[in-house]
Amino acid sequence: MIRAAELIRRKRDGEELSAGELRELVLAYVRGDVPDYQLAAFCMAVYFRGLTSAETFGLTEAMIASGETIDLHAALGKTVVDKHSTGGVGDKTSLAVGPIVAACSVPFGKMSGRGLGHTGGTLDKLESIPGFRVELSSEEFVAQVRDAGIAIIGQTADLVPADKLLYGLRDVTATVDSIPLIASSIMSKKIAAGADAIVLDVKVGDGAFMKALEDARMLAEAMLELGRDAGRRVVCMLTDMDQPLGRAVGNAVELREAIETLQGEGPPDLTELVFEAAAHLLTLSDLELGHDDARARAERTVQDGTALAAYERWIRAQGGDPSEAALPVAPVRKAVEAAEDGVVVDLGAVAIGSAALHLGAGRRTKEDEIDHAVGIRCLKKRGDAVTAGETLAEIHARTDEAAPAAAAEVRAAYAIGSNAPSVRPIVLETLH
Ligand code: URA
Repeated sequence: MIRAAELIRRKRDGEELSAGELRELVLAYVRGDVPDYQLAAFCMAVYFRGLTSAETFGLTEAMIASGETIDLHAALGKTVVDKHSTGGVGDKTSLAVGPIVAACSVPFGKMSGRGLGHTGGTLDKLESIPGFRVELSSEEFVAQVRDAGIAIIGQTADLVPADKLLYGLRDVTATVDSIPLIASSIMSKKIAAGADAIVLDVKVGDGAFMKALEDARMLAEAMLELGRDAGRRVVCMLTDMDQPLGRAVGNAVELREAIETLQGEGPPDLTELVFEAAAHLLTLSDLELGHDDARARAERTVQDGTALAAYERWIRAQGGDPSEAALPVAPVRKAVEAAEDGVVVDLGAVAIGSAALHLGAGRRTKEDEIDHAVGIRCLKKRGDAVTAGETLAEIHARTDEAAPAAAAEVRAAYAIGSNAPSVRPIVLETLH
């Protein structure tokens, strides 16, 4: 007999639950023996009361135990690395980091998600590539990491089924933004997917879950502790998401920007984040490099073309055509021009993400189809000087009707002033 009501009451009253009790609750929920309304009440109790470190670990372990797990280290006989971002606007970092790390002979295996609302998803960006398969089985995933050195796939249905159910429930019961629930959701998937070393990119700012640096730090610390307790090596970067990352926001447009970054021609903020994330992954790998050597090694793969070659190998291995010419192109382009001289003092990440969503680059509900060709390129970013009539951004739209509406939204996302703003570095802090 499951004591769900008793466990909910004890959590509501601020008591600590044991790992066994959390496991009982989560596994009963996944079996269908505990209904949604009781788990929803439990999540709300957690939202207000929080979880201790031991409880957060217990919940994470319970979620992992709800499905299959993959042991990449045992399968490959060496350290496999993974990178995860908490999600933002224009975040195509993994598309460039993976090939750089693979070019250094460090295996990279990642399970990724789709975008929802104003944030984009790595899988959607990859599906811009004709033929690319994101749905590999666990066996195909392991084989590809072994043979091609890199795989990025969708989460298999058997991996942490508890998270899928719980996340859906949290989404409709105002319990997503609880630090222990986010930490256990992310880390259960990372641990179950099998990489030994993980770089986490916690986004901070307007376009992120975590608006304040202090909250982002708490989430980072909770995830670091979960990784440590599970025997994984984890580095957590806190990075700026007050404006879109790089210039491109959409799917094919972001893939093109990732390719440009692998060719050494990416925007400065994205390039910096890509090299820093790659350097941390290399320091955690079997190469055992110090940070500066790791960064130099990562940069060399871009200069000598081996990162781009690794990208092409990877895309072919997953059935796709790696040439840029194969990516879809939107039929309508429209420039958004500055109305006055000045400097960009603000560029809202959520506003740009929403404009891309309205163009069709994202989905409002999980069932929406997305248009891989459409998107926005923000040619001017915070701190950039502009003159009246100069292009701030470029709209890539499907129809002549969609373009002006998106242009109005994008224009409203830009604030032009006379005093240069202070521009945050892309990497705000790194926690080990
Ligand atoms: N991403 C996740 O995977 N889970 C959360 O709870 C929040 C962001």
